[in-house]
This record gives sequence, structure tokens and C-alpha cells, in this order.
Amino acid sequence: MMDIEVVEGDITQQDVDAVVNAANRAMRGGGGVDGAIHRGGGPQILADCIARFPHGLATGDAGWTTAGLLPARWVIHVVGPNRNAGETDRSLLTSCYRRALEVADEIGARSIAFPLVSAGVYGWPKEDAVDAALETLRATPTQVELARMVAFGRSAYELIAGRL
Ligand code: ADP
Repeated sequence: MMDIEVVEGDITQQDVDAVVNAANRAMRGGGGVDGAIHRGGGPQILADCIARFPHGLATGDAGWTTAGLLPARWVIHVVGPNRNAGETDRSLLTSCYRRALEVADEIGARSIAFPLVSAGVYGWPKEDAVDAALETLRATPTQVELARMVAFGRSAYELIAGRL
């Protein structure tokens, strides 16, 4: 049984096997969590994205790279739906969490930290972003032992803790 916990903090500081990046389809860096992960991990992450994902990733999919200088060993990049660009299909969001756990199993990661995918610039309502995350993490069979939701700020923490 995988444990699911919530902490308030910064995804780049998490001492887990893999941290999840809320990337975009191009996988060449961006703002929000994506910018923080590339800044914190250094240029090795971008170099690995270019080498391993020459065409980027589809919405709802996941893939791994090195974590460069971050405490984690891997970054698992997921592409959440951009609601502000008309991607309103909720299964694209749940797919990110399921695919991230599948990729974690491929690489043997046993602990994984998630941001609230799509709940920033991509405009997914935060309550439903939390519910989609938690229901998918609970329903997906995996060897991962710990899933940590990293809440960026107090209000995100309260929101996730209240639905956990
Ligand atoms: P998206 O484009 O998928 O919406 P964002 O990076 O804009 O991704 O935001 C996703 C969520 O991550 C938001 O809830 C945002 O508050 C949060 N966030 C932003 N920076 C960090 C960080 N350094 N660590 C953890 N969460 C973060």
C-alpha cells in the first residue's frame, strides 16, 4: 500500500527518489514548477529533455530525465491539460498521475513528490485538481511506497490536507 502525504514546501527541495515536473508539451522549460526545477537542477535537465524527448510529450503523458543538481535522483515530467487553451478533458489530468507512477515503476523509484499539476498557469480549479490527484494515486497499482503532495503555500496545504 502506497502512503500518501502532504507537506507545505518547494518541490525542488524534496529528498525523494523522483520529483514530478508540471511540464509543457515542448519539454524545453517554462514558468512555475517547471522553471523552478530547471533552475534548481541546472542545465543537465534540459540537455536530457532534448536528448530523450526530441518531440516532447503528449498531454497526459509522462517521461523521466536526470534531476541534475536536485536532491532527487530523477525528474518525472508530466504534461497536464491546459484548461486555458481548451483542454478540459479530466482524464488527461488523471492520466498524468497514473503515467507518473508507471514511469516510477519502470525506473524503480519508491518515493515520489508531486506538485498540483495543471492548477497554476494551466487554470484547472484547485479543488478538482486535488481530487483528481488523490483519487488516481489511490486507484493506481504501483511499487511506489510514498507519494508526497507538495503544497506551495499555506492555503494549498490546507486544501490538500482537508481532502486527503
Ligand atoms: P501548470 O502549468 O501545470 O498549471 P504551474 O507550475 O503553473 O503548472 O503550477 C502548478 C502548481 O504548482 C500550482 O499550484 C503552483 O502554485 C505550484 N507551484 C509553483 N511553484 C512551485 C514549487 N516550486 N514547488 C511546488 N509547487 C509549486
